[in-house]
Amino acid sequence: MYDVVVIGQGLTGMLSAIWTKEEGASVAIISQGTGRILQSTGVMDILPGTEGTMNDLIRKYQIKGWNSLLVEGGIDRFKTLMVQLGNPYQGSIEQPVEIVTGSGFLKSTALYPTTVSPIPHKGHVVVVGFQEITDFQPSYVAENLASERPELTIDHFSISLEQRSHRTMTQLDAARLLEQKEVRNQVIQRLKDKMKESSIHKSDLVILPSVLGVIGWESVWKDFKNQLDTTITEAVGMPPNATAIRLHEQLHRETTRLGVRQYLNSKVVGSKQGKQTIESVMVRNANHTIEIKGTSFVLATGGILGGGMEKMASSITETTLGLEVDQEGNLINPYDNLYLVGASQGLRVTSHGITGGIFSILSSYETVIKNNYRQPLGGEQHDKLTRHQL
Ligand SMILES: Cc1cc2nc3c(=O)[nH]c(=O)nc-3n(C[C@H](O)[C@H](O)[C@H](O)COP(=O)(O)OP(=O)(O)OC[C@H]3O[C@@H](n4cnc5c(N)ncnc54)[C@H](O)[C@@H]3O)c2cc1C
Repeated sequence: MYDVVVIGQGLTGMLSAIWTKEEGASVAIISQGTGRILQSTGVMDILPGTEGTMNDLIRKYQIKGWNSLLVEGGIDRFKTLMVQLGNPYQGSIEQPVEIVTGSGFLKSTALYPTTVSPIPHKGHVVVVGFQEITDFQPSYVAENLASERPELTIDHFSISLEQRSHRTMTQLDAARLLEQKEVRNQVIQRLKDKMKESSIHKSDLVILPSVLGVIGWESVWKDFKNQLDTTITEAVGMPPNATAIRLHEQLHRETTRLGVRQYLNSKVVGSKQGKQTIESVMVRNANHTIEIKGTSFVLATGGILGGGMEKMASSITETTLGLEVDQEGNLINPYDNLYLVGASQGLRVTSHGITGGIFSILSSYETVIKNNYRQPLGGEQHDKLTRHQL
């Protein structure tokens, strides 16, 4: 019997498991797959694809009870976690910034890793691609960026990684290659030679595809930045983005380090329900079906995109626990010990497409704080935030 059973291993499920475990609860995470985080860019948007603010998000998703303490507490806790995991995130929800994507168009985001920098309005930019990576075309990126930021001057070119591969190389392959110091130094030298040959003496920003290493990102980023003596940014876009893989690997390692019991490649296929509580879930893997009991359950199954809901011609089905939901995916009968986080809250929170990282962070944090699992919450911020205030 666990204090808390988290279902789903996307951004929402992993944050819920990590933070609940940090509160002293015994936690299990059950997941069929890895979640959409691997297809994302790894930057935390408020309302993806829009310039929406926190107020817009709260209004659009009809969120009650997200006061400023909860919002600040959740963002602080995420940023603190990412510092501890060696991948600090910059930015704020008050002042979203514009970053460049792998297509050259800009997107608005709130929190981003150190390897990503906001795009200035003026100055000289160099877009660098790699001949082996076909889904990042510097000329295309430069053309689109010029349409977004007409006052920038932009150069672009490609260099070779000079590494053999038996298949088309992805940005992730390049990220792993560039973690090797020797490869990295040769690539940086080639880049400098090409700039010299093209009479580019100085730039304010160098844009690269998302290739600046995975676990060893800091050395890769520092070497590019210091040896080129300029600001560097990864242009996040087509998956797999190193930024997203980095985030996923770090969160996954942290759940393991903290001792969260992991049931991976395991599908929740039903639940035993009391009058107003979930008592246990039935979990099927390749070999058998087992019953896992818990005091509380966190449903982080990602809604329609994550597989936690199915949309039929005129109805929605909740596929994991067999919950009764209305046509919008809203729970009809709430359970005292069941918490719906992230996109599992139904169509209301995915009405504009996908829920962003900020919603995942804050809904996970809200659940952990509200639940007040086993031990008094630690830290100044958390002491101020009581269940009563929510
Ligand atoms: C292509 C794409 C790009 C994105 N890009 C961005 C971006 O740039 N910035 C941004 O802020 N956000 C982005 N997002 C959204 C962001 O990743 C969301 O925060 C996320 O999709 C929602 O996370 P989640 O954890 O709620 O669900 P998911 O990531 O969908 O995770 C659901 C989890 O539940 C598991 N699951 C489902 N059913 C069961 C079951 N029956 N039993 C066991 N496990 C089950 C799944 O295997 C998975 O692990 C993107 C999303 C997509 C799809």
